[in-house]
Amino acid sequence: MPDFDVAVIGAGNAAHCAALAAQEAGARVVILERAPETESGGNSRFTAGAIRFAYRGVDDLREIMPDLSQEEIDRTDFGTYTEEQFFDDMFRVTRFRTDPTLCELLVRQSFDAMKWLRSKGVRFQPIYGRQAFKVDGRFKFWGGLTVEAWGGGPGLIDGERSIAQSNGIVTRYGCRATSLITSEDKVVGVRLREGGREHSISASAVVLACGGFESDPEMRSAYLGPNWELAKVRGTRFNTGDGIKMARAIGAAAYGNWSGCHAVGWDFNAPEFGDLAVGDGFQKHSYPFGIMVNANGRRFVNEGADFRNYTYAKYGRVILEQPGNFGWQIFDRKVLHLLRDEYRIKQVTKVVADTIEGLVAQLEGVDGTAAVSEIACYNAAVRTDVPFNPNVKDGRRTEGLLVNKTNWANTIDQPPYHAYQVGCGITFTFGGLRINDLGEVLNVDLEPIPGLYAAGELVGGLFYFNYPGGTGLMSGTVFGRIAGSSAGKLAMA
Ligand SMILES: Cc1cc2nc3c(=O)[nH]c(=O)nc-3n(C[C@H](O)[C@H](O)[C@H](O)COP(=O)(O)OP(=O)(O)OC[C@H]3O[C@@H](n4cnc5c(N)ncnc54)[C@H](O)[C@@H]3O)c2cc1C
Repeated sequence: MPDFDVAVIGAGNAAHCAALAAQEAGARVVILERAPETESGGNSRFTAGAIRFAYRGVDDLREIMPDLSQEEIDRTDFGTYTEEQFFDDMFRVTRFRTDPTLCELLVRQSFDAMKWLRSKGVRFQPIYGRQAFKVDGRFKFWGGLTVEAWGGGPGLIDGERSIAQSNGIVTRYGCRATSLITSEDKVVGVRLREGGREHSISASAVVLACGGFESDPEMRSAYLGPNWELAKVRGTRFNTGDGIKMARAIGAAAYGNWSGCHAVGWDFNAPEFGDLAVGDGFQKHSYPFGIMVNANGRRFVNEGADFRNYTYAKYGRVILEQPGNFGWQIFDRKVLHLLRDEYRIKQVTKVVADTIEGLVAQLEGVDGTAAVSEIACYNAAVRTDVPFNPNVKDGRRTEGLLVNKTNWANTIDQPPYHAYQVGCGITFTFGGLRINDLGEVLNVDLEPIPGLYAAGELVGGLFYFNYPGGTGLMSGTVFGRIAGSSAGKLAMA
């Protein structure tokens, strides 16, 4: 008899969902987590807990947030986010490259996955403030992202962990999986480094849920390209591609957008890896309401191309490509009240002035003369006759510029002026392993490797070029549940 029926590698959201689903199938499950307990939970712990799923209206939302009060419902337009809208978003941002089977599972199972998490005891709440603005006394949600885990990422992981614990699932911290053990082509266990010694455990099935390769600078520059070793890591330092390498070493296929990743505008002076005390506070995601200039004093991107949920994940790369690998975000008084909470943290690279000249003089590394003339040209190009509305793509645009801003274009002419320096923060990598609809890892002949399953960030094929905000947690939930359930059934057969 093996030591365990199912061994789950990693202790983020995908891993916990896999462990709970495997246990539902009757399996004896162990979670093996590389990080010490204090740093455990992977990138999932660093999130704001925002999670994307299809819903038909407030009645669906009530099913996963039974404590939603009538008063909240009365003052909020939750709208709908249909499966068709979710498909459209996935197709549009990935330029139709998303794997159809994986995308179908993600979208169609998203609402059910939320109900499943809720049934396990995970709690959710609406994301007021960041995903809905108040207009005429009512909040209106936009961009398909309506719900976050109670307590954000830490709340989600602590909740999942205590649910796993109370179900008798043991988690071993400081326990790094180093390779897979096979017998006659079947995975039968895993080698570990734990407490300074090497050993192994046997299991009828192994679920890899141990993240992408974003925290390994060599893999970043090898696969994402030059300069990616210079990016800051937004989350955990432990996702160094181990799961991908272990599976590839026994013949697993590579799949998806290996040169692509999720990367955002991130405080230029943020530390090398994420800081759990700050969480996702180093991100700076209110650029749709301002402008960004580079070292040459020039705007370089359409800050208002779409809602932030559909642009933020690809703009980190654009910032990395600028001279000196940075940009400055500039806002004036008119929009300061719209800036997200992350603009008010202590650890921020920020300058303030009462004149444009006074501001640009403080923008480290920027050609000030060019920046002053760039802002003047931008101001002159704004269609101020079109009303500004942050809740919809308002079409308030600039005209005649080399790089136009196509929504939410406000002149920058009312002091105080605020500017924030951003660099590139990598969130997670898009390339990874290939799985089928049962969560089984496929080999290079596209046949399942018996006993091996995968979920979460290290699965390739879902995201290409870009990503709709809140889909990482949903992907981990849907595919973690599928992989865990399949692994559990195999072990119990
Ligand atoms: C700052 C930040 C904010 C984000 N905000 C959101 C958000 O609001 N909504 C959203 O949907 N997504 C968000 N994301 C993306 C999201 O975090 C990921 O898509 C998702 O959490 C990945 O889950 P996972 O379980 O696959 O990986 P992780 O949560 O990263 O878990 C991987 C685990 O594997 C462990 N591990 C690694 N190697 C080994 C090994 N060899 N042996 C054992 N264990 C190992 C790690 O320690 C870790 O616990 C954010 C990411 C970051 C960094």
